Amino acid sequence: MMTEPKSTPEKGICSSCGLCSIKEWPMHESIRSCVFKNGWLGGREKKLFERERKLDNPEEMRFGITKERFLAQLKKPMPGAQWSGIITAIAQTAFDSDLVEGVVTLHRSGKNSFFSEPVLAMTPRDIDESKGNKPVLSPVLRSLQDAVRKNLKSILVIGAACHIHTLRDFQERFPYLQQMKVYTVGIPCVDNVHRNRFHWILQRMSKSPETAFHMEFMADFRIHIRHTDGSVEKIPFFSLPEELSNPEIFPKACMACFDYLNSLADITVGYLAAPFRSNEKLQWILVRTEKGGQLLDPIKDRLERYPEKGEWECRDAVLKNAEAIIAAMKEQKASYSSKRKMPVWAGQILAWVLGRKGPKGIGFAHYSVDFHLIRHYYYVKYRYPEQLTLLVPRHVRSIIQEYGLPL
Ligand SMILES: Cc1cc2nc3c(=O)[nH]c(=O)nc-3n(C[C@H](O)[C@H](O)[C@H](O)COP(=O)(O)OP(=O)(O)OC[C@H]3O[C@@H](n4cnc5c(N)ncnc54)[C@H](O)[C@@H]3O)c2cc1C
Ligand code: SF4
Ligand code: SF4
Repeated sequence: MMTEPKSTPEKGICSSCGLCSIKEWPMHESIRSCVFKNGWLGGREKKLFERERKLDNPEEMRFGITKERFLAQLKKPMPGAQWSGIITAIAQTAFDSDLVEGVVTLHRSGKNSFFSEPVLAMTPRDIDESKGNKPVLSPVLRSLQDAVRKNLKSILVIGAACHIHTLRDFQERFPYLQQMKVYTVGIPCVDNVHRNRFHWILQRMSKSPETAFHMEFMADFRIHIRHTDGSVEKIPFFSLPEELSNPEIFPKACMACFDYLNSLADITVGYLAAPFRSNEKLQWILVRTEKGGQLLDPIKDRLERYPEKGEWECRDAVLKNAEAIIAAMKEQKASYSSKRKMPVWAGQILAWVLGRKGPKGIGFAHYSVDFHLIRHYYYVKYRYPEQLTLLVPRHVRSIIQEYGLPL
């Protein structure tokens, strides 16, 4: 099996966020701000909100500090966007109204629709072309260099949690961006992959990897892969080949990631707590700061808005998997089978049953956040014990204890 591309020893764990590729300042300064050198949340969260998340508030522990949370979709969904296109609408409106002079984001690579190219978007067309998911590690922050060289005074950065953490630290610690007003839109992000592994993984998921152009892990317990002929292939998570459960196929960075919901972004826009209905494109919005409100306000009239739904409780569902996750993180198996964990027909039945009986809406978000925090805690504990104290934010320990699992 392919191995993860080697990081330099000074970089250590690295999600290729793009900051270290910048030539405008020394690389050691970029590395100094890296989230994998400073740890997740903690002091950074306190600086942004003047407090850390409350450990006696179960929702805040999982979803981070927010001013408001709700479900929404654009009344006129944007073709080509990942969901209804709320992020692109926010970016376009911020640009059109001169709130920002440029948008630091990604375009699809011309060579491969799943891969990304960093871009500083400074025209409506460039912003429109940034729509859609690129399910690979992406050097978003590289375009900060262009923004600095153009002497921009205000920018919007759209990124995953590792981008936003590192960006916030860098802006505060070093002088280069301090004259710039920076707004941030965060995507929830988990289980990302390195681009040199992407096709190996896709070949094991899809019957027709060569025609696949879009992929998403959905709340109906299936991976949806869209093909160029318009068909959508739905593979239950439970029927994937066993070799896709090998933690080694994911980047170390993503297995050591503790901020699924991008809690330092001004606003997070995802879909995790939105009930999955095939004819809708409902999204989940978490407004975190005043700047997040400023970004959202101008598009409010374009949104259909709904309260969050679903039962909070998901303890049994999490505990059902916990032992197996802990064992998988502990044992470092030499080989994984290429056989499916269960036949596709059986996986479809299980996905159907869980779709009716399993956690939904806010309960599904609760389940998914806890599942990943538990998996990542034990990944770091068994494979990088020397990094445990630095990387793991304090609420993760509280959640582990809530389930009665060993620290
Ligand atoms: C690897 C990965 C895993 C994700 N997992 C979840 C999840 O589990 N739950 C959830 O709620 N949401 C998840 N998302 C986010 C989700 O797919 C959508 O991006 C989000 O819901 C916004 O939808 P939209 O229609 O408003 O986006 P659009 O208007 O289409 O805009 C999407 C924006 O995200 C940017 N973007 C795309 N890929 C990346 C990337 N790799 N890194 C940084 N920026 C990127 C685009 O350039 C664009 O600016 C994930 C995204 C990625 C990349
Ligand atoms: S994650 Fe970013 S800042 Fe950290 S080492 Fe990698 S490129 Fe540099
Ligand atoms: S999973 Fe975490 S570390 Fe990996 S790309 Fe997403 S935010 Fe960054």
